[in-house]
Amino acid sequence: MTYIDPSYVTAMATVVLFLIIFIGVNLYLFFRRSTAPPMLELTLGTWPNYAEATRQDPQAASSDCCSICLADYDNEEEGEDNPVRILPICGHVFHVRCVDTWLQQHPNCPVCRSRVMHR
Ligand SMILES: [Zn+2]
Ligand SMILES: [Zn+2]
Repeated sequence: MTYIDPSYVTAMATVVLFLIIFIGVNLYLFFRRSTAPPMLELTLGTWPNYAEATRQDPQAASSDCCSICLADYDNEEEGEDNPVRILPICGHVFHVRCVDTWLQQHPNCPVCRSRVMHR
């Protein structure tokens, strides 16, 4: 008959309990993430206005109007907040409000059709 230290049993029970909670939380986060709207992945590459976007990402300077609403970025007031989004794969630039409406119906860039959404 082996003697088991009761404090050892308590410690093991605590470790097992923590493991179960840890795995449970991770599973919850994993499933919650997989059902989250894919738009969240596009928050990168969003700038308060076009001037700021070209300062931070020279690739954005290749276009001078939004291809969806055809508004010229240069006509916008200096310092005015008109958020733009740079698509992660092709680098095309659009207004956030224009491209978000588009991306709700299409998984790709409205200009070059490169895939931006993981759907
Ligand atoms: Zn636009
Ligand atoms: Zn594109």
